[in-house]
Amino acid sequence: MEDLLFKEVKIRAVDLPLKNPIVSHLGTFERWPYLCVDIITNQNVIGNSYIGPYLKEYLPAIASSIKVLCKSNEGKIIEPYTFYQNSMKSLSLLGFKGIPLYGLAALDIALWDAFAKSYNKPFVKLFGGSIKNNIKAYNSSGLWLIKNDKIAQEAETLKRNGDFKALKLRIGRESFKTDIQAYNEVIRGAGPDIVVMSDFNQCFSKNQAIKRCHALDDIGFYWFEEPVQYNMLEDMNKICREIKTPIIVGENFHGPKDAHNALLNNSCDMIMPDLMRIGGVSGWLKTASIAESFNIEVSTHLYPEVSAHLMCLTPTAEWLEWVDWANPIIKDPYKVKNGNVIIPDKAGFGIEWNESVISEYKIDL
Ligand SMILES: [Mg+2]
Repeated sequence: MEDLLFKEVKIRAVDLPLKNPIVSHLGTFERWPYLCVDIITNQNVIGNSYIGPYLKEYLPAIASSIKVLCKSNEGKIIEPYTFYQNSMKSLSLLGFKGIPLYGLAALDIALWDAFAKSYNKPFVKLFGGSIKNNIKAYNSSGLWLIKNDKIAQEAETLKRNGDFKALKLRIGRESFKTDIQAYNEVIRGAGPDIVVMSDFNQCFSKNQAIKRCHALDDIGFYWFEEPVQYNMLEDMNKICREIKTPIIVGENFHGPKDAHNALLNNSCDMIMPDLMRIGGVSGWLKTASIAESFNIEVSTHLYPEVSAHLMCLTPTAEWLEWVDWANPIIKDPYKVKNGNVIIPDKAGFGIEWNESVISEYKIDL
């Protein structure tokens, strides 16, 4: 078989409107920015990935990191494992976190995609796993900090679009009573069997968090997500010891080492790494092994397409977070049936671009 060589990278930026605007403690977002990355090879194979780094003003800085990381790989054989190890090493002077890590993740995912496509296999099969048909997902595409009288109807709609068995509600409202009322509205709209995750989006100080989590501890939330600022490991350790409902963090782990530190410190009961911040597919797989050694469940954060493949390779896999925000730029978006994400039997991650949408919402880098 002819070697698969890295020829060049193509990076495009889009700013997509969201169907449901995000209203959270971290801000209000009407649109979501993406970088779409294509790895061009010497064969009839293109590796695709996207990342959605929240703030469109930083897209040029991330794109520039991607170009720097590519320089030493042009003309070389595509070997995603070697790329990750060498690239991480190269970041030791700049730091292993933030913007360069996001660039590394975008490339890592695209390289694994190209690699799997060159063998004409879905990524999970190339890796020696099997496509599972029971990857349970919760719908996270709504239930932001909206008025309580709008919650029941939205919960019903979110449940129905995919027959979801679980939904996520954003909390940390004016009082514990309005949080409880919001929970009850989800149940009223989606039925008594619905599983309800919750997310505080880091809105509290330690003492506020303990007070609120105590007040909500027995009402039925499946987990409490990020009650305090994400890097407050000692505070989270105290909250975990005080509260019965599992505490989950992880979307703000920058690389596998952050996951290891949080678990060593007993700062959470479950984790939910984000593919962009954990270091792409390679960073995820390392983190999955760390979680296995701590016997801790792993859920996902955004990026449902690639995450679905990785859940098949994660020994302690729990819930996949379903959002459809990137669907417009993907030619054949993934589907959810009976609350489970369906992995298409396509080479790589099965992400091809919807070029007309990319052209319509393209922004300058
Ligand atoms: Mg969150």
